[in-house]
Amino acid sequence: MPQIPDVVVYRVPMRTRFRGITVREGLLLRGDAGWAEFSPFLDYDARECVPWLVAARASADVAWPTPVRDAVPVNCTVPAVGPEQAAAVVTAGRGCRTAKVKVAEPGQSLADDVARVEAVHDALGPGGRVRVDANGGWDVDAAVAAVAALDRVAGGLEYVEQPCASVEDLAAVRRRVDVPVAADESIRRAADPYRVVELEAADVAVLKVQPLGGVAACLEIAERIGLPVVVSSALESSIGIAAGVALAAALPELPYACGLATVQLLTADVVARPLLPVDGLLPVTRPVPEAEALRAVTADDETTARWLARLAEVEAA
Ligand SMILES: [Mg+2]
Repeated sequence: MPQIPDVVVYRVPMRTRFRGITVREGLLLRGDAGWAEFSPFLDYDARECVPWLVAARASADVAWPTPVRDAVPVNCTVPAVGPEQAAAVVTAGRGCRTAKVKVAEPGQSLADDVARVEAVHDALGPGGRVRVDANGGWDVDAAVAAVAALDRVAGGLEYVEQPCASVEDLAAVRRRVDVPVAADESIRRAADPYRVVELEAADVAVLKVQPLGGVAACLEIAERIGLPVVVSSALESSIGIAAGVALAAALPELPYACGLATVQLLTADVVARPLLPVDGLLPVTRPVPEAEALRAVTADDETTARWLARLAEVEAA
């Protein structure tokens, strides 16, 4: 059996452009508790990467909390693609009855979003749920207008995630629409994640393990923030996704499907059996990289050196 080193850098092309990226890279590290992933996006500076590294070290060194459920419901994720492709994502969605649709993509119009959401609603059929994520792409008036239009073609939106960039604008939108508002960037990229509660800016908290410093740190935030939590991924390999599943499995309440079915967006993975949903559910497991799978996605020497340098820089930050 070929030995897998304790630190490995992977590089995997995405199936479609997502969050402005076409290739996903990350570093896997092995500790006493198991494998963990450190994969901050390339546009993040060292300081912003610190919680990502804290999360990776915690996952590698400390056992995850005891799960209260053995499977986690997940949504399929529809990138800012055309309506036919959007419907195809839902059809290939491995039994997911909830779809998260990206909207407010730069260079696209509300008509594009309406067509995409309508196609997703139709593809899900009766009983399907649609939520949209604007990644802060609207101002308050645009958000109010878009939510009304999208709510209509979605047969009722489950929630709108991060309609505007600032917490103040989120609160303003929330006062003007009936659709629940979810906060994502306002929690994970904010100096104070609890301002969303103070300003009554959100009905739902989106938590991501890496940017928020790990599974245990997220459990604490969930308790303090007092809102229903949706655990979402940062587009990790199955190693990083498993940490999100561990968080979702340990939450006392889990009223919404989680955004953890994103391994589908990658063309390859680092484990033999990728963490993909079956009947809309992800199992609670602790996967390990597999030599054969890893060989196909191990980054070249230059990329690996770049990530090791980044790791050292973040450790020093
Ligand atoms: Mg989001």
